[in-house]
Amino acid sequence: MNDTPLHPDSIATPSVQAAPVPCPVVESLDGILPDEPLLMMGAGPVPIPAAVAQANSVVINHLGDTMARVIHQVKEMARYVFQTRSNWVLGVAGPGSAAMEMAVSNLAWPGTRVLSIANGFFSSRMAEMARRVGADVTTFDVPDREIASLEALAQAIERTRPEVVTVVHGETSNTVWNRQIREIVQVAKSVGALVVVDAVCTLSTMPLDMDAWGIDVVITGGQKGLSSIPGVSLIAFSDAAWERVRTRTVPNTHWCLDATLAENFWHKAGYHYTAPVSGVLALHEALRLVCVETLEKRFARHQRCSLALQSAVSALGLALYTPEDCRLNSVVGIRLPQGLTPHDVCDRISQQYQVEISGSFGLPIVRIGQMGEQCREHNLFRTVHALGRTIRDLGAKVDLPAGVAALEESLLAGARETRR
Ligand SMILES: *Cc1c(COP(=O)(O)O)cnc(C)c1O
Repeated sequence: MNDTPLHPDSIATPSVQAAPVPCPVVESLDGILPDEPLLMMGAGPVPIPAAVAQANSVVINHLGDTMARVIHQVKEMARYVFQTRSNWVLGVAGPGSAAMEMAVSNLAWPGTRVLSIANGFFSSRMAEMARRVGADVTTFDVPDREIASLEALAQAIERTRPEVVTVVHGETSNTVWNRQIREIVQVAKSVGALVVVDAVCTLSTMPLDMDAWGIDVVITGGQKGLSSIPGVSLIAFSDAAWERVRTRTVPNTHWCLDATLAENFWHKAGYHYTAPVSGVLALHEALRLVCVETLEKRFARHQRCSLALQSAVSALGLALYTPEDCRLNSVVGIRLPQGLTPHDVCDRISQQYQVEISGSFGLPIVRIGQMGEQCREHNLFRTVHALGRTIRDLGAKVDLPAGVAALEESLLAGARETRR
C-alpha cells in the first residue's frame, strides 16, 4: 500500500473489548462433580486403581535419573504387554488418537499408498489421518457387524499394492472384534506392506502378540484396557517400521509426533517436549499392575467377566448387537427395546443409579465396557442391576431377577473353569 503514517484519528478507539477482563465467578469442583463418584462402565475412560490415582498426583522432574528409571521400566513393561522384543517403544503425550496419528504420520507422507481397513468409527479415523498427511488412501470398507473377508482383502491388496495397511483390533464403536489380525498381516506382508494395528480398546484385555503375528506398529491409549488415565499413550514400532521412519527424507509435519524427535526423550534421556510426568507415573503403575496380575490371568478375567455380562444381558431379554463370531469382549453392544433411545437410557442410569455407560455415534445401542477395572464382579452386579432398573423405569420390559441370576451362574461357572 503506501508508507504514509496512520493519522491518530484513524487508530481505533479502545472499545469495551480492550477493558480488563473481569475475574469470573466460578464454582469449585465440589459444586460440579456428583456427590458420589459415577461408576465408569462405558467405552472409556474406565475406573483407575488406587495406585494409579496416587501416582497421578505426583510431579517430578521430567529429565534426570529418576525419570530415566521410570521410563526404562515403562518400556520394559510395555514390551511385555505388546509381546514384542523391539527396542522401539515410545510414549505419547496425548489421547489414543495421538498415538494413531504418530503411527500414520511417521509411516506415511505425500504419495504413500495406504490401505485402511474400515470397520467403523475408529478404524476410519486412521484413513482420515493418512489422507491429511497427503497419502494416497484406499479404504477397504467392511459392513457393520462383520469382519473383512480375507479373499476380498487379498484382492484389494494385490490391486493397490499398499506400503502401509491400517486395521483395528477391536472396533469399539460397533463392538466388532477383528479376530483375523494374524491372517491380515500375512496378506499385507505378501506385498511388503507394514501393518499398523489400533489396540486402544483391546490391549491387555485379550491376546495380541506383536512379534509373533508380525505386526509393525501397535498403538494404545491409557484409559481403556490398561486402566490408566486418559492423555498418555503408547506406541511400538518393529525394526522394519523404524527403518522406514529413520530413513524418510520428508520430515514429519507434526513436530510433536515426530518419532525421531521422541526418540530423544524415550531412548536418550534427552529433551523433546516436557513429558506429562504425572501421567507417565500413572501409566507406570497401570502397567506394573498388569505385570503383577500377568497377561494370562488378566485375559481370563476379562473373558470370564465379559461372557457373564453378555449372558446377563441376554437373560434380561435384551439382544446383543454383534454376532458371536466377531463379538468384542472388551466392549459389549446392547440393542435397546423399541421406543427407548441410547440418550434416555444413558441419562437415566447415570442420574438415578450413578452408573455411566455409553451410546454409540448414532447406532441404536448402548455400550458397556469390560476393560481393566470394569471387569470386577461387584461392578458387574451393580451395572446389570442399574441397566435392568433403568429400562424398566423407562417403561420397557426386562427380567431383572433372571439377568442377575444369569450373571451369578456365569461367573461361578467361569470361576470353576479358571480353577481347573
Ligand atoms: C477410544 C479409541 C480410540 C481413540 O482414543 P482417544 O483416546 O479417544 O483418542 C481409537 N481407537 C479405538 C479402537 C478406541 O477404542
